[in-house]
Amino acid sequence: MPVESLFPRLEPLLPQVQKPIQYVGGELNSTVKDWDACAVRWALMYPDAYEVGLPNQGVMILYEVLNEVADVLAERTYAVWGDLEKLMREHDVPQFTVDGHRPVGAFDVFGLSFSTELGYTNMLNALDLAGIPIEAKDRTEDHPIVLAGGHAAFNPEPIADFIDCAVVGDGEQAVLQITDIIRAWKAEGRPGGRDELLFRLAVTGSVYVPRFYDVDYLEDGRIQRVAPNRSGVPWRVSKHTVMDLDEWPYPKQPLVPLAETVHERMSVEIFRGCTRGCRFCQAGMITRPVRERSIEGIGAMVDKGLKATGFEEVGLLSLSSADHTEIAEVAKGLADRYTDDKIGLSLPSTRVDAFNIDLANELTRNGRRSGLTFAPEGGSERLRKVINKMVSEEDLIRTVATAYGNGWRQVKLYFMVGLPTETDEDVLQIADMAKKVIQKGREVSGSRDIRCTVSIGGFVPKPHTPFQWAPQLDPAATDARLHKLRDAIRADRQYGKSIGFRYHDGKPGAIEGLLSRGDRRIGRVIRAVWEDGGRFDGWSEHFSYDRWVRCADKALADEPVDLDWYTTREREWNEVLPWDHLDSGLDKDWLWEDWQDALDETEVDDCRWSPCFDCGVCPQMGTEIQIGPTGQKLLPLSVKQPATQH
Ligand code: SF4
Repeated sequence: MPVESLFPRLEPLLPQVQKPIQYVGGELNSTVKDWDACAVRWALMYPDAYEVGLPNQGVMILYEVLNEVADVLAERTYAVWGDLEKLMREHDVPQFTVDGHRPVGAFDVFGLSFSTELGYTNMLNALDLAGIPIEAKDRTEDHPIVLAGGHAAFNPEPIADFIDCAVVGDGEQAVLQITDIIRAWKAEGRPGGRDELLFRLAVTGSVYVPRFYDVDYLEDGRIQRVAPNRSGVPWRVSKHTVMDLDEWPYPKQPLVPLAETVHERMSVEIFRGCTRGCRFCQAGMITRPVRERSIEGIGAMVDKGLKATGFEEVGLLSLSSADHTEIAEVAKGLADRYTDDKIGLSLPSTRVDAFNIDLANELTRNGRRSGLTFAPEGGSERLRKVINKMVSEEDLIRTVATAYGNGWRQVKLYFMVGLPTETDEDVLQIADMAKKVIQKGREVSGSRDIRCTVSIGGFVPKPHTPFQWAPQLDPAATDARLHKLRDAIRADRQYGKSIGFRYHDGKPGAIEGLLSRGDRRIGRVIRAVWEDGGRFDGWSEHFSYDRWVRCADKALADEPVDLDWYTTREREWNEVLPWDHLDSGLDKDWLWEDWQDALDETEVDDCRWSPCFDCGVCPQMGTEIQIGPTGQKLLPLSVKQPATQH
């Protein structure tokens, strides 16, 4: 069936909205393929505004992987702001893709990538605008398969009623596998309708289809069991793991945004996974094991990506980039290669103990020497043992002293508040640490012009981590602790003025906690919030805690559970957790032991450099740690010829 562009209907609305450029598409390296020549069509969404969604690496990678297949097309769609939403509803313009301005409802798959649970209301809004029934059970063969991925999909239960399926883990191979199944089913004349297609996906063992699982509850509200209701559907669904990153050098042609976005640089993922074992870190736990991209692979991606985009900065991405075994060679090689072009390099995440000044000097050789950010996460040594973030105060002071001595004037320290076992005293030690940093900075630089910014986030316990059983601190207690810390910093006459203090109140964290560890009953709350006008919950100016509390009270009124039950309650070891049937590879007994180790303030080493401590991932997933050094060299590709004399 031919599908026409919605642009003629959208265009007259654009002069009436803010930043209309975000809706027009046509970015450098974007793709519009012939609709009728394609057998399988994907609409991909990062459920936030264009400025946040466009730079998202996950969507960018899948967009390119899918579009490289001759008979497959993929287009992007983002959350529209309230001004355009109102006009679209008035003028009957459905949710559209920015590439071909095609209606999302006409695609075979509507795939959403969730890095945060606070995007759930935006999903419901997009479904509604697209004319796709909100609940999966009401969809027919005419509607796309609604598929969730991204880190939040490791517990898709709160959105189980709204999605048809979820994929956990790396998406590159998974989207191709799903495409093959859809192509075959369509070519056979769609036997058995939508149900048969979902069944074919479910029996692969790596696509979760919520409708094929029943959840039973105990009287006290806990889950009794989750079991398949269809023969052939596996009890547990496995995550996907891409083993050789060099085989997947995506994005090859990164998108260049038309409107302002949160990152304006090209990014290369230098490794995936992290085995440092920080107990609060869901990303580290669910992406194990560590798989490094080779130095040659990184060099080739940077070269191609810069040529394809014209960006002036390269971000070397990963969960802890300075941990790449050849980071020094990578940084030096790239700085040498791009000296004349003034291409800046950045490592968005650096550990104090992996940082060294040679590396920092290489990174800033061709660019700006702006601030350095470190994340000790816990204010006291004791708390850092609890969270397994093995950074001593001595290490931190030594590192920042070197940085200040080498010309840096700004250091940002990131911490969390509300960590398990935390007391006021642990948090107040953040103020002491910041003072010592300033003191040392003044001493080594001989200048009073030294700044340290303390940035604080609220801790949210996440599924598939050792803290999945932990109680979350309620917003009032979080705020009280933050205020004590703020007062302690301000009260210091000698150093207080040199210390910046940034924090968010505890309310969004409580809702993120509800959505992170929630079960299927939370779907009612999400729906009620969206119907009440909830959108863009990740944005403080749009987030309404009162609305979430009101809707949760109402939607859960007949249940023995409430907001506190999901957030501030500590779980027992034998409780069935809503995500137990989603297999991240981590052994639940190991996670429990690690939780007990946390309470005993016992640390665990990184298995890259110490023996395997049996977290379960490698045997369960058939994977292994892949690190260098590889012995390869980063070639100086753009060698300039010396000028010849005539
Ligand atoms: S199974 Fe062993 S080697 Fe693999 S990630 Fe877990 S602890 Fe590390």
